[in-house]
Amino acid sequence: MNESLVEVENLRKSYGKTEALKGISFKVNKGEIFTLIGPNGAGKTTTLEIIEGLRKKDGGKIRVFGEDVEKGISRIKPKIGVQLQHGALYEYLTVKEVLILFASFYKKRASIEAILKKMALKEIAHKWTKALSGGQLQRLRIATTLVNDPELLFLDEPTTGLDPQSRRYIWKMIEDLREEGKTILLTTHYMEEAEKLANRIAIIDRGEILSIGTPADLITKYGGKAGMYIRVIEKKEEKEYRINLKNSGAEAPQILQEFAKKGIEVKYVEIKTPNMEDVFINLTGKELRE
Ligand code: ATP
Repeated sequence: MNESLVEVENLRKSYGKTEALKGISFKVNKGEIFTLIGPNGAGKTTTLEIIEGLRKKDGGKIRVFGEDVEKGISRIKPKIGVQLQHGALYEYLTVKEVLILFASFYKKRASIEAILKKMALKEIAHKWTKALSGGQLQRLRIATTLVNDPELLFLDEPTTGLDPQSRRYIWKMIEDLREEGKTILLTTHYMEEAEKLANRIAIIDRGEILSIGTPADLITKYGGKAGMYIRVIEKKEEKEYRINLKNSGAEAPQILQEFAKKGIEVKYVEIKTPNMEDVFINLTGKELRE
């Protein structure tokens, strides 16, 4: 049996007339990266901040490390690391000073030098935070979650607004944190990010979870068929074929062999297998845009 570090059951939350969460349920297992993915306004931040003890729920049950959040927050806090979407970092403190300040809130502290190294902040440890690039700031935000050496990390859209290269750099660091044994609950609205990082994904839209599973399971269930586009020379004429494949596209090589057997020269092949983007469109009926 998987040990669950976070258990959310039928969680409800409204802001006035806006029903932000309509009774969502999920579990985060020890050692995994669990990703909540959904468009702006889906309810991701609300979910995270209720679990972190920062907002109040209207209904449902939440347990973190087996404890009720509202009753046990003082025992839970030392064991979690929280990165807020717009967490303030003091402009005229250096990177290292920010980490020292955050560490001072905790009894148990990780080595600041080790965190600087892990998050590639060593070279800029003495820069003011106001002088950092977007990618460096996000790395510092994640670094602040590590100061108490927590078992469980909450990362709210850790790469939003970054260029693809900085994003990939942070993905590698998040993967390394899982490697170290940390459990991570992460929100994102980038499908590629969820597909790359997540052991399991929950797709959330308008306050409801539409499906939960591993990326591969979700793609098999909801991704739809793969497609193959082939351009050939047949009887000295160029022709195009579009062929529907099964989900995995595994029969593609066999199809190419059939062409070869008939002496048809294949000039170009493109295979499009379904991805998380297709899963999202098929489940919600819309594209996930920034
Ligand atoms: P984003 O990616 O934009 O942060 P999200 O998925 O995190 O989106 P939430 O921020 O949780 O979504 O918002 C869910 C819904 O609740 C939205 O309709 C939002 O407008 C509303 N909402 C969130 N916070 C508040 C608040 N403090 N007061 C009123 N309404 C709020």
